[in-house]
Amino acid sequence: MSYLEGKVAPIREDRLGTCIEFGGVIGDIVQPFCDGCLKNRIRGFSQGTICQLLPSLAILTSLQETVVIVHGAVGCGGAVHSLGASVRLGQWRSGDKNPKGALWLSTNLNEQDVTQGGEEKLREAILESDKRYRPDAIVVLSTCVPGIIGDDVDGVANDLRDQISAALLPVHCEGFKTKVMATAYDAIFHSFLRNVIDGHDDTEFSVYDNEAAVAAESIRRKRLVNLMNVSSMTGPDQNELTRLLNKLGLEVNMLPCDAHPDAFRMAPFAALSVGVCPTHDDYFMGYLEEKFGVPFVGSQMPIGIENTGIWLRHVAARLNLEETAERVITTETEELKRAIEPILPSLKGKTAMLSAGEIRTLATAVLLQELGMEILAVRPYHYDKFGAVDVEHLAKINPSIRLNVATAQPFEAVNIINRAKPDLYIGHNSDNVWAAKCGVSVLPIYGTNSIYSGYAGAYDIARRIHRHLANTSFNEKLSRHVRQPYRDSWYREDPFKYIKRGELSA
Ligand code: SF4
Repeated sequence: MSYLEGKVAPIREDRLGTCIEFGGVIGDIVQPFCDGCLKNRIRGFSQGTICQLLPSLAILTSLQETVVIVHGAVGCGGAVHSLGASVRLGQWRSGDKNPKGALWLSTNLNEQDVTQGGEEKLREAILESDKRYRPDAIVVLSTCVPGIIGDDVDGVANDLRDQISAALLPVHCEGFKTKVMATAYDAIFHSFLRNVIDGHDDTEFSVYDNEAAVAAESIRRKRLVNLMNVSSMTGPDQNELTRLLNKLGLEVNMLPCDAHPDAFRMAPFAALSVGVCPTHDDYFMGYLEEKFGVPFVGSQMPIGIENTGIWLRHVAARLNLEETAERVITTETEELKRAIEPILPSLKGKTAMLSAGEIRTLATAVLLQELGMEILAVRPYHYDKFGAVDVEHLAKINPSIRLNVATAQPFEAVNIINRAKPDLYIGHNSDNVWAAKCGVSVLPIYGTNSIYSGYAGAYDIARRIHRHLANTSFNEKLSRHVRQPYRDSWYREDPFKYIKRGELSA
């Protein structure tokens, strides 16, 4: 993890060879990815994408006692307005009965700043944030404008560190640098590792004032695990995974979302890091292992019956808890199967198409197959090596499932929907709206108050699909009264017409 020596984390395209352009069938992606043939593909036509600032803001604005300064043009922070409800809900869940929402400011760079530099405005914003809010941490999100004009964001932070009480974290999140929004995760972890965790050594237990307290803390740390949540994990999801880990006798230090900066400071002292989404956490967990010897697991997302069992077994294997885990898995699986038995006949043979982040899309598809449904197409936002486990699982059952690696690109989605005609589309609302206008029933793949993870999540997804498919008339009627923006001729074209295939990287 020599990356930490640099101020900026590498982009995913370089670090992992991540691809965001693929169209074909699921059986055809693993080998070309491993051979490097998917690098540097391009879309001749691209319709919308997602800036890495969006996932950054979703994570950072959820942090407790933290002010986020968006250093850039005022519009860069616009996405925060759509995050308000989930931020307040997270604060309320963390015990704040009067949640104030996201604490964020913009340096509002204008034309004059573009020519004369924005460092002075940033300096003022940092000092004002520290004075006004007295936060534990101040995060400076550097966007495209300072990246292009060359503002020395790290230099400003270094100058001010001694003048303020908050930890100061520059996060380099310039949207133009990457097409893979998951780069945001590395950018955030990079800054926390460099500025909060690295060099922090509390192994002396100096805060504990007697031997008994030191001994108790030492025992606690042996069964403390870092549970790496993601911003598309709901409160009920977090409760479910905590419940399962508690059943193994483990305590949870949850981060990064909704966490206090102290959760990051505690992370090096845990016995294990447990990922819930391998493409989200590998940068952070890999570094904790390398620098502090904290091992990690998390090759499966605990969505679905089998995936949840594998996830628990991986945790148990690292902490010698195998027998307990088997008992938990058997009990939970039997209870789940009894609960979903009456629902399964209504799902059997129904067809589905899914889109969202890589691992979530693939893991949810695996769950739908476990429920007896047939997967027609999956559209992960990106693809990297971490998707291979679920891709191979799905390909074994049906290698001809359509696979469209695409961040947004609704023109490809509607073309595939028109051909595949699934009974159900599961995606984020920004994707689902296109399927709904095609007359297909839709289910959000993430909704703030629903549950998706673990055994309770498997039951609830089954229950909600059953309910949605019981009456599909609303979207059918909707499709007869809305106009899609595409010509009829587009639906006769190959949906992957604009993806340039077969270009080998140098
Ligand atoms: S692409 Fe650049 S300018 Fe646009 S929102 Fe992202 S960081 Fe801001």
